[in-house]
Amino acid sequence: MTTVRPDVAALSRSERRVLDALDEHALVEDLVSLIAVPSITGTDAESDLQHQQARQLATLGLDVDIWKLDLEELAAHPDHPGTEAPRAEGYGVVGVLGPSGVPALILQGHVDVVPTGDVAQWIDQNPWSGTIRRGAIHGRGACDMKAGVAANLAVARALIASGVRLERPLALHSVVSEEDGGLGALATMLRGHTGEAAIITEPTSGDVVVANAGALTFQLRITGQATHGSSRLAGHSAIDAFLPLHAALANLERDRNVRPDQLFAGNPLPYPISIGTVRAGDWASSVPDLLVAEGRLGVRLGEPPASARQALEGAVTEASGKDPWLRDHPVEVTWPGGQFASGRIPADHPLVTEVTSAVDTAEGRQPRLGAASYGSDLRLYVGLGGIPTLHYGPGDVRLAHGPRERVDIDDLLRTTRTLAVMAARRCGARA
Ligand SMILES: [Zn+2]
Repeated sequence: MTTVRPDVAALSRSERRVLDALDEHALVEDLVSLIAVPSITGTDAESDLQHQQARQLATLGLDVDIWKLDLEELAAHPDHPGTEAPRAEGYGVVGVLGPSGVPALILQGHVDVVPTGDVAQWIDQNPWSGTIRRGAIHGRGACDMKAGVAANLAVARALIASGVRLERPLALHSVVSEEDGGLGALATMLRGHTGEAAIITEPTSGDVVVANAGALTFQLRITGQATHGSSRLAGHSAIDAFLPLHAALANLERDRNVRPDQLFAGNPLPYPISIGTVRAGDWASSVPDLLVAEGRLGVRLGEPPASARQALEGAVTEASGKDPWLRDHPVEVTWPGGQFASGRIPADHPLVTEVTSAVDTAEGRQPRLGAASYGSDLRLYVGLGGIPTLHYGPGDVRLAHGPRERVDIDDLLRTTRTLAVMAARRCGARA
């Protein structure tokens, strides 16, 4: 934990007013009430939370656009990012504060979260409690990324409460479906919401994240030949057939992680290939005739997703060529789920310098630049939207998606102060 020594001399009068107006109590309360809504991606609660967000932004006085996503139209779009979860509907929410014109800054956050896993492993056996313990707020989404969503709200509230006048607008984007591909971000870009720069307040542990690796969900279908387990030599187990492929994927992973971009310094595995599910067989004493494995393939910075897919398909073909069974029983490779391309902005982009300088002013330290090994909405904002975008937000991503997810309140407050300074500067706040 870094000690906060804000460089008060570097703060303008209006920035000081904004920081003085930052309501830390409301920030914590907002986060607790965001966690209380079990907004698992694709569920009704996700829609409920978007409506709650729209109401809150409107109450604060922002100009709010809330719209229902046209799922059919989005599915037909060439940049459709795939989906992981069933979805009947989804909503987009954008609020704008200040004068008309292109927003000078977008603060973006996703309201959806992943499922909770084993509830017994959570504090109070309740992933939606928002319990505060030892200086941290607990709950699913606490760091990924309802802390960031609450921080974005707090910045808007502070700008309004401070009474400063903005020369250029600030936009808040609240999106759905980030966890299952990025449909909400795609819809927001296609709706025409734009800006000169965007900060996605995903958890970055104090770093300024200027690039994302991608992640492509793949599925392998491997056939075997069923027979009674007592005469297994008469058949062929799909599980045995999978083993050389599993080894081939491990080799491919090793090859794809040789000399990664220096932004990944300190990360031992920036581009993992990870098998998440394996299903095979339907009877203990039968030889399984089908194995279905699903996993995620990391996409390198600058690598088109099609090349990454080719690399995996090539490795499967090569391994199959060396195996007598697989040679005659080709593996079916498909790409059924979330398809996150990688994305980045140059490390010397002016937006990076501005955020670094805001961290320096508000927190009294120089942040590290880094890259995230997971996919995010960044690539849709940068690629499709043409909006320079980076991640800077509260929380430690290693706590995301696990039980006992939490965010330190100190981290939340510190990061929100930096975002408030950044917003005041970019939007030309005048006292
Ligand atoms: Zn996230």
